[in-house]
Amino acid sequence: MSDLNNNIINTDYKNEINIKSNTNFQKILDNTINKVVSDGKVPSLLIHSCCAPCSSYTLEYLSQYFKITVLYYNPNIFPEEEYDYRISEQKRLIEAMNFKYPVEFIATDYTPMDFHDNIKGFEKEPEGGKRCELCFGIRLEKAAKMAKEMGFDYFVTTLSISPMKDSYLLNTIGDRIAKKYGIAYLYSDFKKRNGYKRSVELSKEYNLYRQDYCGCIYSKIEREEKSGCK
Ligand code: SF4
Repeated sequence: MSDLNNNIINTDYKNEINIKSNTNFQKILDNTINKVVSDGKVPSLLIHSCCAPCSSYTLEYLSQYFKITVLYYNPNIFPEEEYDYRISEQKRLIEAMNFKYPVEFIATDYTPMDFHDNIKGFEKEPEGGKRCELCFGIRLEKAAKMAKEMGFDYFVTTLSISPMKDSYLLNTIGDRIAKKYGIAYLYSDFKKRNGYKRSVELSKEYNLYRQDYCGCIYSKIEREEKSGCK
């Protein structure tokens, strides 16, 4: 990544965007991309991905402007077989898609205690509550740390594509962690511009496995209870 690092000016990070509840993150991303294009740069980007379907649109979109590495780190996922299956689907998607710039892939080992240790006391929170906020933080923190160590220009997560995930919260966490590690977060809201709809289309096109629960054991139980399986 060093060849790219030397000539990138991280405008997002230096500008220290003042995030508000009505901030238009798509507009910020548009500005970042316009700057990258007008400067003739191809910055490196570490994308934390939660699953292949959520990454599909994000990769189609951002790979036109960034040299991407996908990071699969999701210690929240239960059980381990699900973790392995989501990795294999992620790999399959990257191999099947055509990109302007090559997309690399990193998957970490299954480390569920990273999740359980961090969400202690909040296990019973409903989906979208404090447990999820902590879960976002664990994954974004790992992405920022690895991006910094490996010399990437930006890091981001695919999570904002989900209509269930609060992009204000995700960008606020990303911003805080970016400042902690001294690396730029790519402010974004991938559900905008029909991003979620496009991810559903791409999932069909590539015949991707689309799980029916978010990932952790608590979301799995919640889903099973709602569907009457338990
Ligand atoms: S519901 Fe999803 S975001 Fe929330 S804690 Fe579980 S896996 Fe994480």
